[in-house]
Amino acid sequence: MTSELGEVVAAPADRLSEPLTRLLGPRTATALAKLGLHTAHDLLRHYPRRYSEPGTLTDLSSLVVGEHVTVMAEVRQATVRSMRSRGGAMLQAVVTDGRHSLHLTFFAKGAGALRSHEHKLRAGRVGLFTGVVGEYRGDRQLTHPDYRIIGVDVEDEDEALAEASRPIPIYPAGAAIPSWRIATSVRTVLDPLTPADVPDPVPDELRTRRGLVTLLGALTDVHAPHDDAQWRQGLKRLKYEEAFVLQAELARRRARAAAQHATARPPRAGGLLDDFDARLPFTLTAGQRAVGAEIGAELAQPRPMQRLLQGEVGSGKTVVALRAMLQVVDAGGQAALLAPTEVLAAQHARTLRALLGPLAEAGFLGGADQGTRVALLTGSQATAARRENLADAAGGRAGIVVGTHALLSETVQFADLGLVVVDEQHRFGVEQRDLLRAKGSTTPHLLVMTATPIPRTVAMTVFGDLETSSLTEVPAGRSGVTTHVVPADNAAWTRRTWQRVKEEVDAGRRAYVVCPRIEAGEAPDGTTGRARADDDGADLVLDVEQDAGPGGGPQPPLRAVVEVADMLRGLPVLAGVGVGVLHGRMPPEDKERAMADFASGRVPVLVSTTVIEVGVDVPEATVMVVLDADRFGLSQLHQLRGRVGRGTEPGLCLLVSGASPGTPAGTRLQTLAETTDGFALAAVDLELRREGDVLGAAQSGAASSLRLLRVARDADVIERARADARELVDQDPTLDAWPALGAAIDRQLAGEREEFLERT
Ligand code: ADP
Ligand code: MG
Repeated sequence: MTSELGEVVAAPADRLSEPLTRLLGPRTATALAKLGLHTAHDLLRHYPRRYSEPGTLTDLSSLVVGEHVTVMAEVRQATVRSMRSRGGAMLQAVVTDGRHSLHLTFFAKGAGALRSHEHKLRAGRVGLFTGVVGEYRGDRQLTHPDYRIIGVDVEDEDEALAEASRPIPIYPAGAAIPSWRIATSVRTVLDPLTPADVPDPVPDELRTRRGLVTLLGALTDVHAPHDDAQWRQGLKRLKYEEAFVLQAELARRRARAAAQHATARPPRAGGLLDDFDARLPFTLTAGQRAVGAEIGAELAQPRPMQRLLQGEVGSGKTVVALRAMLQVVDAGGQAALLAPTEVLAAQHARTLRALLGPLAEAGFLGGADQGTRVALLTGSQATAARRENLADAAGGRAGIVVGTHALLSETVQFADLGLVVVDEQHRFGVEQRDLLRAKGSTTPHLLVMTATPIPRTVAMTVFGDLETSSLTEVPAGRSGVTTHVVPADNAAWTRRTWQRVKEEVDAGRRAYVVCPRIEAGEAPDGTTGRARADDDGADLVLDVEQDAGPGGGPQPPLRAVVEVADMLRGLPVLAGVGVGVLHGRMPPEDKERAMADFASGRVPVLVSTTVIEVGVDVPEATVMVVLDADRFGLSQLHQLRGRVGRGTEPGLCLLVSGASPGTPAGTRLQTLAETTDGFALAAVDLELRREGDVLGAAQSGAASSLRLLRVARDADVIERARADARELVDQDPTLDAWPALGAAIDRQLAGEREEFLERT
């Protein structure tokens, strides 16, 4: 654009990026900033939490002291009184929902200052009142509430009438700004917008096909509806949009990767894989064979495999992964196995070496004729060991390189990286996978394994760029695990619990005792709801939502590793039994030693945090005692109990909990005790818990961008959006023709990237 003077004039700024300070003035903008709202876009995407029906009053009996609330109620009376004792005046009003009442109290220097309130708060009028619920002499009250009387606090009568008959949007608000100020601000920003100001990320053709309104239409629908049908129609479209934007990005990633060239790694007859299969002490399950064939065929293609392997706990994913790695080694390439914790990385290295036997001893006396090496790289390794392993990886002597995030570091190089296996993906983000994949000269094949089965909608949401394989059966001959809920306050049961531990130890077996915390007096791990990119990752997943006790009341302190270990050492019934500890904050050598002592039976009782949740494999372990079991998610508990009963002896899982039977927490534990199917539990878990918790902290970047979509409930929306997104990406793999969609992807997934950056 050029002005009369011939100089270049900037195109009108994108209306939605305008700062709220400019649009609403600094005062309102500062208050909105406290809710994280800075631009027009932020504000328009701050959707109402619910709608108050005009004429339906809020049930005042449900108010909880200390909560910030917005209620619709009818004024019953309002009286101004002078306060002789304190000087000044006080207005007391009572509002009601017809059955219960709530007091409103205002103080002022003199009665005059309260007259305007008194004038507005006339008996019979209905208003919205907002504030923090307090209690005074047994009555619920709001002190100096903000309020708005329906039909009074608006300019003309028409508007007043209209307002009185419309659903009233109730926004997530805070003390800094009440819901209706947000509503007014939204209208100030929204009303002048034209369709041209609000580019629609959903292409018109798809939108019409799905019978959805435009973006501007939807924003108007949700922020200024005339009736319920209207906001529902708006929400429907916004929900679809969320799913669609996410699925478009996943489809684009999938297309991008598929377009890359990979080195084909076909199987080699008479190679390491054949040797390995011949040495296997067991026969593969049908599932392992089928998935193995699928993977084997994909590795033989010159396009990168992108596969998610999910499986029942104990279904033998490791062997499937190892066989894939061997095929790649046979074809002259290397495989990297990325594990979430040092404990797991070390164990994987040990397991792989044990499974491979002489095949992993290339270059050593007694090694097989053809063989390879398994190198281990962790962050805290001694320099000499690290140097040797780095050289083995870079020189290609190590066909298999196992490690933690340390593998992502720039100093780690491969001669020819052909396959990346990410174990227990819950702790890794997409960007981390990509970092590791960038270490191949051509794009390596990718196999991602989840720790526990995940519901289909979660797989589509979080791993939507991957194809999925599932292992549903566990190898035959497992004795399985019996699970019991032990009431924490029952002394006899508790005694019996430790007796059982002793009996198992006497029979030469081992017991895990899992606690939610490391030390007394500290917050439970994981209250941040986000895993860190370090070895403590495994300690950090707890259900944040359950932190408040039932009814929000105080709870007894959580059990902590250090205290429990001391307690057990002092128990007469366990006299002479070695009790070890393991948690993410211990130095790596200590962790290694604790695991080794436990595995060998020297210290047969191990008290730990959920570090052992994922993948730890000690066949002699038969008892799993989980303290404060109600603090953990269902899938997590299922994973935990999967640590026992892996050998020929049956496993026993004791869930110690103070949760009473019949409460939601108690019911959850009972469900776990009665169900052994991890896929079924995952579905229940998803319904019961917040999605971020189920999806796992690190991978929830994509999920945390979802405001309206509920992975548990909106399966159909997700399916539709996915089909549409894939269709669009098939036509235009880069999505360059759809700038509004590209911008929406950037915005919606910005959090995921930030989270990643914070963690590295
Ligand atoms: P997960 O799928 O939970 O990661 P693992 O890979 O750790 O399970 O396997 C659990 C145990 O089962 C390991 O000790 C492994 O060696 C063993 N295993 C794997 N496949 C079979 C099989 N087909 N038959 C018997 N045992 C098996
Ligand atoms: Mg495993």
